[in-house]
Amino acid sequence: MTNFTTTLEYAHQLDQQDPLASYRNQFLISDPSLIYFDGNSLGRMSKSVVERMQKAIAKEWGADLIRGWNKGWWEAPARIGEMLAAVLGAAEGQVIVSDQTSLNLYKLAMAALTLQPEKKRIITDTFNFPSDLYILQGIVKSLGNQHEIVRIGAQDNDITPDLAALESAIDENTALVTLSHTTFKSGYVYDMQKITEMAHRKGALILWDLSHSAGAYPVELDKCNVDLAIGCTYKYLNGGPGAPAFLYVNKKIQEKTSSPIWGWWGQSNPFDFGLEYTPAPGPHRFLTGTAPMLSMIALETGIVPLLDAGITRLREKSILMTDYASFLTDSWLAPLSFSLGSPRDSAKRGSHISIRHPEGYRINRALIEEMNVIPDFRAPDNLRLGFAPLYLSFAEIWEGFDRIKQVVQQKKYEKYSAQKLVVT
Ligand SMILES: *Cc1c(COP(=O)(O)O)cnc(C)c1O
Repeated sequence: MTNFTTTLEYAHQLDQQDPLASYRNQFLISDPSLIYFDGNSLGRMSKSVVERMQKAIAKEWGADLIRGWNKGWWEAPARIGEMLAAVLGAAEGQVIVSDQTSLNLYKLAMAALTLQPEKKRIITDTFNFPSDLYILQGIVKSLGNQHEIVRIGAQDNDITPDLAALESAIDENTALVTLSHTTFKSGYVYDMQKITEMAHRKGALILWDLSHSAGAYPVELDKCNVDLAIGCTYKYLNGGPGAPAFLYVNKKIQEKTSSPIWGWWGQSNPFDFGLEYTPAPGPHRFLTGTAPMLSMIALETGIVPLLDAGITRLREKSILMTDYASFLTDSWLAPLSFSLGSPRDSAKRGSHISIRHPEGYRINRALIEEMNVIPDFRAPDNLRLGFAPLYLSFAEIWEGFDRIKQVVQQKKYEKYSAQKLVVT
């Protein structure tokens, strides 16, 4: 780990040495004093999106009307899927953009269970995103409660999953192992290769949720022999609020898989308007209905700067940023009753860290309401800070930590109610 110091000059020095520093200019930064630590939840908007959307609305929707479908709209899910494949380590013909992450999990988890109907165990963990757990519970109910969901817990203070328990839970009766690659609270990152092999040794399929990895952590889906994967595009990939999600189906199993939702976009010849369903080849069969084209166009434009920067350089900067933030946590915040809620080893950490404080929720409120800092809060006590390497500067990290320090030292959080707002 680098020998950091706590001065602002040092943060400026890190910015001067940052090979990605100029990418910030490609993003709309309307309030330079806002410290945005939430690029892991909703990425910033690339300036090029404004112009592209104006054209999409006025020319494509407004003037082309239905002819747009023959001018590039129809192919958008596969075309954008191939763009994303570059940061997912996926060869052609395996990634497609469709629906939401939650729905993609439903489709792919159902496909996995259908492939091995005799096996009745699903392994996941308590670190997984709640929506993923709910989807699995709903699936089990809809399949007549014949499956058992096993949730692995933590081996420490909610930072690291219990890997030994995971290994022993996967048995010959396991149909599916599904985990978040980078966990949403502590930022712990699973060893994809190792866990995938662990599942395969017992004949289970694996489904990775890459929502907090895609665009920040280099993923090698093909190399790791992953079966199935899903993820969001509105986080580090800057696709825009509610941007359509992606899914990956390994070529080796594609032709055996079946979507539980037989929509016409997943049909082999949708414009034959035949009365019986036959699945489209490849990942296309997991499309459902008409793609939200304006959101697709925003996504296709929004990811360009990230793809240009390249995942290797992004990961290098991301490690430096989370190391630096961990250092500032230890130096400034530990004496104020904060503790690091994320792995100290950068190899096991994504691009966000959680810092824990008993007053975490009220501190989060004070930061947003009066300090112009946007982190987010994840119960019970995690103030979560995302470091999007594409546009965040080291000086901003310094400034953000300085403001957190002020909120606690000056007890600015005390005037806020502990009663939570709807979105935290
Ligand atoms: C953000 C996130 C989601 C969100 O799913 P949506 O369907 O887009 O609401 C799902 N899974 C994980 C792991 C996430 O981090």
